[in-house]
Amino acid sequence: MSGKDAYAGSILFVDLPSRTVRRENTPEDLKRKFLGGNGFAVKLAYDLIRPGADPLDPENALVFAVGPAAGTLIPCSSRFVVGSKSPLTGLFVDSYAGGSWGEELKCAGYDALVVTGVSPTPVYLLIDGDRVEFRDAGHLWGRMVFGAQRRIAGECKIPGLSVAAIGPAGENLVRYASIIAGTRAAGRGGMGAVMGAKKLKAIAVRGQKPVFVPDQEGMWRFFRDSLRRLREHPGTGKLLPEVGTGAGVNAFNRLGMLPARNWQEEVFVGAEDISGERLRDQGYFIRSKACPGCPIGCGKVASTCGVDGGPVITEGPEYETLYSFGSMLGNSDLDSIIYADRMCDELGIDTISAGVTIAFAMEAFEREILSPGDTGGIDLYFGNHRAAINLLLDIAYRRGLGDTLAEGVKRAAEIIGRGSEKYAMHVKGMELPGHSARGLKGMALGYAVSTRGGTHQDTRPTVERSGQFDPQAVQGKGKMNKDNQDMTAVCDSLIICRYTEGIYGFFLGEDHVRMANLVTGAGYSLEDLRKVGERVYTLERLFNVREGLSRKDDRLPERFLEEPIPGGAAAGRVVLREDLDQMLDEYYTARGWDPRTGAPTDEKLKELGL
Ligand code: SF4
Repeated sequence: MSGKDAYAGSILFVDLPSRTVRRENTPEDLKRKFLGGNGFAVKLAYDLIRPGADPLDPENALVFAVGPAAGTLIPCSSRFVVGSKSPLTGLFVDSYAGGSWGEELKCAGYDALVVTGVSPTPVYLLIDGDRVEFRDAGHLWGRMVFGAQRRIAGECKIPGLSVAAIGPAGENLVRYASIIAGTRAAGRGGMGAVMGAKKLKAIAVRGQKPVFVPDQEGMWRFFRDSLRRLREHPGTGKLLPEVGTGAGVNAFNRLGMLPARNWQEEVFVGAEDISGERLRDQGYFIRSKACPGCPIGCGKVASTCGVDGGPVITEGPEYETLYSFGSMLGNSDLDSIIYADRMCDELGIDTISAGVTIAFAMEAFEREILSPGDTGGIDLYFGNHRAAINLLLDIAYRRGLGDTLAEGVKRAAEIIGRGSEKYAMHVKGMELPGHSARGLKGMALGYAVSTRGGTHQDTRPTVERSGQFDPQAVQGKGKMNKDNQDMTAVCDSLIICRYTEGIYGFFLGEDHVRMANLVTGAGYSLEDLRKVGERVYTLERLFNVREGLSRKDDRLPERFLEEPIPGGAAAGRVVLREDLDQMLDEYYTARGWDPRTGAPTDEKLKELGL
């Protein structure tokens, strides 16, 4: 720790083939310009990964980073990011997880951990402060996530050790494999496959160093103020603690914006049966679970006895899983969703991408693009939850049709062909989460331009849902997206949980400035912080432009442009091509990017010091 700010003070570089490590002081310039977390991950990835490198080749690098807020009293700041070139999109992806792993890395003395190369044999890393060991993982290869975590904890015998591991999906290079840290998933973009390609089964970490806070008094004041506001806010004070994120199912269904049956509809008749309220009221929840330092506690541990093969306990299912394995599959069997949630964690696979890819296969089957011969005789109709779970296992182990679907929905559709491409619900290769694009015009633009592809974490659907913006308006959505993305980039760099946006706001403001200055002591102004957000997001874009991305890639699935929502409260809504074009023009202009190519201009790069 530096003694002048809340950074850990060093970056750990691990080279797997040579089994060597080196430490570098965290550069002052990196801190000031990129803040931490997301900013560190994209800067290190940009500098280290050769343009054109295959994401599953040794030359890809995997960057884990924490924010300067981790380990301090700033609420909900224990998260970490994994950044790399994604095997799903071929672009930069940053993927986040909660739990204690991030704080352990910080307290071990590291702001970031960079992993390069490929180990000749399966290995896991043990990081205990200054001690870093490469340990054989041959006996763990093939194991499910939680079994591997338990074995590692047993072998290391270090109290407080936190283990981030991959499962069979990562080992088998499923392009949307996740990394599971404790029970929390860094799910998006296939970071688990990058780890699998490196033959790195797990990273176990424990830290015992204190985190220095320059202004302790100010930190206490900010903490007390935040705590009061989080408790008073209806979302963070009541809905999330009581119902969890599954509260979205009924709410979005009422709005006519709950994607169902592979986005053919946005109302699901079985919504009530798979809602967060049903999970709560029917005794599925056995307890709440919060990340360290979080007064909200959106996590819910659920159990069920009603699944073939016996009882199941899982942390979840979150809204996104209720969407991807529920409404998207036309599945109102809650027990099966709980089971799928647990299996996704055990296999180490992203629930969103897995569910959306299976939904695609179901639609292709119902449209007779896939035949029973393709599915191994399985009737892959919507609602067949047993088939979905069998297919999930086939994906993780790359068996039969599962081998094709393990490539992600975009590649799977290209392999299957026969017109199936128009049923592949993704942006830039990343499967879409459960937030309406046709119902929320700004979200449609957000999906189209997101550096990660189909994500709701760059532009937030909550901005338009909050009522601050007309969801159907087109004008102003370019600027709205830019400003919201700059906020998410700063919060992902600090790193603080998205659910604090209810009190800190959807756009950068004085709360963000206070937080940044409390942990960095850098004296940022609001304008400085806006520049940090813009710099981080623009560098992500630059990474992608370097890989060949341009305006033509900022697009949406045909379904959103050609098929109006067929029923429900948002019936008739669609994204007109001319509206998308207008929003794109406005967005690039707001960003200072060339509207013809979508690339950042030289003037903008100079202004941002890139
Ligand atoms: S709100 Fe949920 S995800 Fe966010 S920090 Fe708290 S428990 Fe973790």
